Amino acid sequence: MPVLRRLSMSLLFAVMALLPSAASALPLGPTVPSTSQTDSMTAESDGAPDAYEGIFFPVRLPLDAMDNTWGAPRSGGRSHAGTDILAPQMAPAYATVDGEIMRARGEDCVEGQVCRDYYLAIAGDDGRGYLYIHLNDDTPDRPNGCDGLGGVEHAFAPRLVEELKERGTLEGVRVEAGEHIGYTGSSGNADCGVDHIHFEIWEAHDWGASGRVNPYDELVAAIDAGSTRHEVDDLGAPATRALLASQLAITQ
Ligand SMILES: [Zn+2]
Repeated sequence: MPVLRRLSMSLLFAVMALLPSAASALPLGPTVPSTSQTDSMTAESDGAPDAYEGIFFPVRLPLDAMDNTWGAPRSGGRSHAGTDILAPQMAPAYATVDGEIMRARGEDCVEGQVCRDYYLAIAGDDGRGYLYIHLNDDTPDRPNGCDGLGGVEHAFAPRLVEELKERGTLEGVRVEAGEHIGYTGSSGNADCGVDHIHFEIWEAHDWGASGRVNPYDELVAAIDAGSTRHEVDDLGAPATRALLASQLAITQ
């Protein structure tokens, strides 16, 4: 649509003019999406170039921050084996590849029960495994703080919740690259902490037993290729920071 194209081009030029200050403003950024926004308000990007064969970016843009913390020390003597993607509570999470769900932690949570650990693991058709930890466990907007009362409806995407009701488990459910699968939060060992998705890539469908891959470069490549979804403004244009792909690489 010509009008929208002109709008998005003017937005792009406006963003380019702002680049130096925008870079120094991260990770605060100009846009803090409301947690009441749902996936229906997102829009696909222009799409990745045909040559791109990498993963789909697993969290809606814009992010709060993303850094390469592979190998960084963690509690209990562990070293960090993934990438932490910081985004607002309830920011949608997406399947990175076609595949099927291996495990959905928290899927047995019943309404009204306090449940504080939700995650999804996907067995990719590409032979690798993909793990999303810290899916949302709280009531949206947290009117009562981190209450752990979000339930499955605010941890997993609506289609998966329907599948869960029908099948009793999410194990074996097929997902497609780019499909909405869940919501960002702070459950598990990040409970009541910073909202983010801890994202891992395994070399096989074996919980990392064969080895894990540092996802960071693949995540940056997905953003740079436009293999993403992002929040949009009232005119249908992507939220500003979604255009600042290279600025998401906040180095230590
Ligand atoms: Zn992490």
